[in-house]
Amino acid sequence: MKLRILNFAIRRPRVYFVSVMLTIILCYGIGSGSYYLYLHEKLEVYSNSILSRSDSLIKQVQLIDGLRDEFSVYSPCSEQYLHELRKRLWPYPLIKDIAYVRDQLVVCSALWGKLSTPLSLNLYRNKVNRGSYIWVFDALIEENIIADVLYTNNFAITVSPFAFQRFWQEAEKMNFSAIVGDYNHKNHFFNIGNNTKLLEAIEHHQAHRLNYIITRSCSSIEDICVITGAEFPILFNNNIYILALLISVSIIIGFLNSALYISITEKNQSLLSRFEDAILKEKFHFVYQPIYNVEARSVIGAEALIRWNDHHMGNIGPDIFIPLAEKNGLINKVSLYVVEHALAEFAPILHRYNITLSINVNCSDICNDVFRAKLFTILEREKIPGNLIMLEITERQNANIEEIKKAMILYKDSGIQFALDDFGTGYSNLNWLSLLDVEEIKIDKSLIDCISTEFSVNPILTGLIGMLNNMPNLVVFEGVETETQYRFLLENVPDCCAQGWYFSKPMKFEEISALLIC
Ligand code: C2E
Ligand code: MG
Ligand code: MG
Repeated sequence: MKLRILNFAIRRPRVYFVSVMLTIILCYGIGSGSYYLYLHEKLEVYSNSILSRSDSLIKQVQLIDGLRDEFSVYSPCSEQYLHELRKRLWPYPLIKDIAYVRDQLVVCSALWGKLSTPLSLNLYRNKVNRGSYIWVFDALIEENIIADVLYTNNFAITVSPFAFQRFWQEAEKMNFSAIVGDYNHKNHFFNIGNNTKLLEAIEHHQAHRLNYIITRSCSSIEDICVITGAEFPILFNNNIYILALLISVSIIIGFLNSALYISITEKNQSLLSRFEDAILKEKFHFVYQPIYNVEARSVIGAEALIRWNDHHMGNIGPDIFIPLAEKNGLINKVSLYVVEHALAEFAPILHRYNITLSINVNCSDICNDVFRAKLFTILEREKIPGNLIMLEITERQNANIEEIKKAMILYKDSGIQFALDDFGTGYSNLNWLSLLDVEEIKIDKSLIDCISTEFSVNPILTGLIGMLNNMPNLVVFEGVETETQYRFLLENVPDCCAQGWYFSKPMKFEEISALLIC
């Protein structure tokens, strides 16, 4: 499989290149799309959490605010007053301190007690009026102590510095930014994250970033909205591991895809065009099946059988491509090929041993002047006597028997012999046998297949043998596979010849050469 993919890659590098590139784009698209959805979802959850925390804070502020009347029964900043403040502060985790304010100065608080110098809330980052309250964000309380405070005439609430701490941590980790403001976006109360300037600029259309994700959540109860944003990392933040993984996966998928694509397209290329290509590029080879004299068990000849091994489809049998060639007018080209190559290859054996070479031809070849001329030329070139060549013909519909008869005469002078192949199949074999002057009759395998056990022999075969024994022609039984079949022939037709796996399968030229030497 690996070799096949490599083989494809060498032959069709462009397909591989395009496939890998497309897969990289696709994988990148899918990866980025998924990451975008993930980031968007995370941002939404983030902004909803900030909003719900803000809602909770406001609720807690309102609850404490509702207690103001309770405190007013005590003298402001008295021990009892402060004690009551501390008691009331206890259950509210988002509130850090409650203070008494006079003339915009914090005089005392639950946390600090009575201040020696009242604290002014003049130093802050942001101040917003909301209802009866003034919110000051990042107000300086003491050196290094900054807090968000909201106050009214005589009452102040300080937000816990931990109220939004986890959102700061998340912002740092994920590079998120958040702005908490009012619904119309007129007031920004406070920001979370280190890069909120960019978010603000984008939100106010002062900057444009295609790769910036923004989500917005607004409270249904309070006039408060949270806008969150994060930069979408174009190349996964240049994370070398993710990029390496993406490229490796793309190469693997790209290679597999292109191998599949090439394999399908090559398969889809019709058998016929592949066959035509094989003829042009001479991609056939031959095997030879020995023909034996039954009584002597000696080789008297061999049949040349064509083989086609397509690099993609594997071995394709002649029973498939010969009918295809006949149907598409290519059979004459095949026969010329056979004569040219098989004769040249087998010539050394014919020079050395007194055996015949049987070649399968089509009836139309016999009548074809080009074929005849080619055959004679090659016989002369290879110095092969004509009587060592046996042309096997098979009865075919539409074949004009008179023409074949006339054409056969043209071969007789050269000594070339004829065999009637596949005798016993088709409906006019007997007719052909009576009309054509052939030296050999090859009995089809289907008839010899009738001899399965010693005792069950088809009466047609017995009758046929009776007829053949009275004929001068050489008789060759095809497809002899078993000892039983061989014994039957030996006993009933001792003069005949046989061809089949019982003796030998079709073999390469070197193998049949070795067989003949023994
Ligand atoms: P065929 O001329 O009757 O060839 C005999 C076929 O029977 C061969 O099949 C051979 O391999 C097979 N065979 C031989 N002994 C046995 C056996 O004991 N058992 C079985 N089951 N089969 C056996 P192959 O090579 O597949 O050829 C099939 C047919 O294709 C041939 O039948 C012939 O009609 C045609 N063919 C083969 N080579 C050529 C060629 O070069 N030119 C042309 N025109 N036709 C050819
Ligand atoms: Mg044959
Ligand atoms: Mg045959």
